[in-house]
Amino acid sequence: MQTENLVIVGSGIAGFTAAIYASRANLTPLVLSGLPLDGGGGVLGGQLTTTTEVENFPGFEHGIQGPDLMSTVQKQAERFGTRVVQEHVVSVDFSKRPFVLKTSDGKEMAAKTVLIATGASAKYLDLPNEKRLLGHGVSACATCDGFFFRGKELFVVGGGDTAMEEATFLTKFAAKVTIIHRRDHFRASPIMLKRAQDNPKIAFKTPYGVEDVLGDAKVEGLKLKNVETGAVEEVKADGLFMGIGHTPNTRPFPSLDKDEVGYLLTDDRTRCLQGGQLLEGVYAAGDVSDTRYRQAITAAGKGCAAALEAIRFLEEEHG
Ligand code: FAD
Ligand code: NAP
Repeated sequence: MQTENLVIVGSGIAGFTAAIYASRANLTPLVLSGLPLDGGGGVLGGQLTTTTEVENFPGFEHGIQGPDLMSTVQKQAERFGTRVVQEHVVSVDFSKRPFVLKTSDGKEMAAKTVLIATGASAKYLDLPNEKRLLGHGVSACATCDGFFFRGKELFVVGGGDTAMEEATFLTKFAAKVTIIHRRDHFRASPIMLKRAQDNPKIAFKTPYGVEDVLGDAKVEGLKLKNVETGAVEEVKADGLFMGIGHTPNTRPFPSLDKDEVGYLLTDDRTRCLQGGQLLEGVYAAGDVSDTRYRQAITAAGKGCAAALEAIRFLEEEHG
């Protein structure tokens, strides 16, 4: 079995940015794209291929379509010798080096270094019309999409900090934001909850669940259900934002250290930890290790940092 210099697990903006740096340093990295398995929604190009306009990625005065950005970044990486294969990692043996990665179709590959850039998937409600209206009023990212809802009436579902933060952010644009939560008790930290409660543009609707999202070409309303009485009602809405949390895609890496939610822990040089110890040659970048920012540019930045770490590690070890 050939031993790769660097295998990058994940083909989002973190993975491909790392690949640009690593391939320009002649590591000829192998990028494993991921497949829609594990309920993780893996896809070549990552989350940005699921959105339309990206307006906050530097370098594009008039914005760029997410899929266009990702296909350009992939070509940029391939120009310098990056290889991309459509494989999904199911496990990695980190107990000895070279590390051995196994994929969902039974392939094995050996690697001197591994960079984990598998992202985090926003949780959705799995409503009948949710997928169809994704990008047309249904969103899981207020920072990304809030701008498109100036003067509109929006709903945010969830009762944790994400929901409070998303709702508060959306009031910069929206005329009104209603937080829908299935209980009267909120999981959000008191300060975040109070900030939302004190905001005159935010209303609360509890204990309600969302039954479906309504509209043909875009969101026009929601079907809500009172959890206690079972009564169903329809309300007018221009957008529905998911604020029910994210799931970091870390199932293939059970031995690595994670926070209480499951995000990979790293040191400040993107190096992964195992049993509280640094695991040399294993790095994490992007949303899979980011509980706070989860933006394309921060993922790209960490991808760059992780690639530079891998390059230096290989230089020091192998000359
Ligand atoms: P991801 O993009 O999630 O990529 C993860 C990659 O890992 C995927 O290619 C997946 O296939 C792969 N993968 C997963 N598991 C495996 C496995 N086991 N084996 C192999 N591969 C695997 N951010 C902005 O800055 N601006 C925006 O306008 C913006 N809009 C957004 C709109 C939407 C609808 C969403 C969902 C997010 C948006 N974001 C935006 C956030 C941004 O997309 C993420 O911060 C960014 O994509 C994170 O990049 P990443 O490379 O860390 O992970
Ligand atoms: P969370 O704390 O797990 O809250 C998720 C919320 O969504 C809960 O209120 C939950 O309801 C609700 N929910 C989950 N699944 C649902 C479903 N299927 N239908 C309806 N409602 C559903 O997640 P989070 O808000 O993303 O926060 C995760 C972590 O990140 C927390 O530690 C949080 O403090 C942190 N965070 C911090 C900040 C910040 O400090 N700025 C911002 C965001 C997140 P129940 O309560 O009924 O279970």
